[in-house]
Amino acid sequence: MSKHSFQITIPTDDEGFVGRECLECKKYFKIKPGTGLPTQYCHCPYCDYEGDQNTFWTQDQIDYSQSVGKQVAYEKLIEPLLDDFAKSLKRLETSTRGSLFQVKIKTKRSKPFFPIKYYDEAELETHLTCNNCQLEFAIYGVFSRCPDCKHLNAFAVFEKSLEVCKKQIDLFSQFQNDRDVELANLKFILSNAISSFDGLGKELRKKLVNKFPARPKNLFQNIDELEKVLAQNFDLDIQTKVSDYRFLRQMFQVRHIFEHNMGVVDVDFVTKVPDLNHLIDRKYPLSLSEVQKFLTLLSDLGRIIEGEAIKYYI
Ligand SMILES: [Zn+2]
Ligand SMILES: [Zn+2]
Repeated sequence: MSKHSFQITIPTDDEGFVGRECLECKKYFKIKPGTGLPTQYCHCPYCDYEGDQNTFWTQDQIDYSQSVGKQVAYEKLIEPLLDDFAKSLKRLETSTRGSLFQVKIKTKRSKPFFPIKYYDEAELETHLTCNNCQLEFAIYGVFSRCPDCKHLNAFAVFEKSLEVCKKQIDLFSQFQNDRDVELANLKFILSNAISSFDGLGKELRKKLVNKFPARPKNLFQNIDELEKVLAQNFDLDIQTKVSDYRFLRQMFQVRHIFEHNMGVVDVDFVTKVPDLNHLIDRKYPLSLSEVQKFLTLLSDLGRIIEGEAIKYYI
C-alpha cells in the first residue's frame, strides 16, 4: 500500500499565536511562530516535559487537521482516480460506437461534503517575551519557563510589572492631584512594586530552595534579611552594587509604615533609618520623584540578583 503525505497548516489566532498542549500535564499554552529559537524542540512551561513540537498538538488542532485532511485526500487522491475511471468509461463508449453492441455510459458525480472543524485558540492570562531568546508566548498563571530555551521568566515578569508601575506614575503625573490623592496613588505604586519584587522572590525560592531560605516568609519584602542571604549564599554585596542602596533601603521602610502605620514615622523606622529621626511622629512626605527613583533602583536590584541567580538555575 502506498503512503501519501500532505502538509496542513495550523492557523494562528488574531495575534499570531498557536496553541500547544503538553502530552504530560495536559496544560495549555501558546507560542508565536517566527519568534524565539529555530528549534523543533519544545519544553512545557508548567511541568518541564520536553519533546518534539509534534507532541504538543491540541485536540482541537488534531480534529481540525483530520477534517482538512479528508478534504485534501479526496481532492488529491480520490478525485483524480474517479476522473481516470470516467475517462476509461468514455473510451469504452467511443470504442464500441458503430459496433453490434454499443455501450452508452452516463456518469453523475457530486462532490462529498467534508465539514471543517474550525476552533478558536483560548485566551491566556499572561503574555511574555523571553528575555533570553525573545520567544513570545502566553501561559496561565504568571511564572514559568520559556518553551524554547527553558529560561525562567520570573525576572521578565518582574520587569513587566515595574513597567506597569512606571506607566502608572507617568499617567498620574499628567494630572494636578490634591495631596491626599497623590499620596494614595504613590503608596499604591510603591506597594505594588514591592509586592512584585516579593513575587519574584517566592518564585526564585521554589527553583532555588537551597539558596533562598523558607523563613522569613516574605524575604524579598525584608531588604535587610535579603541583603544577608545574598551575601551568604551568592557572595553578592548589594550595598555596593546598587547605586544608591541607602535610599533603596529607606523606601522599603517607607512602604512598611504606609502599609502598617498610616505613613507615620515611628520608632522602629528611625531605628532603621536614623538620619530621619527628625520626622518621628510625622507623616512621611513621600514624593513622586522618590517613587520614580525607587522603581529604577528596584529594577537595577532585580537585574543584579538575576546576574547571580541565573548561574544556579540554568
Ligand atoms: Zn506539562
Ligand atoms: Zn527563551
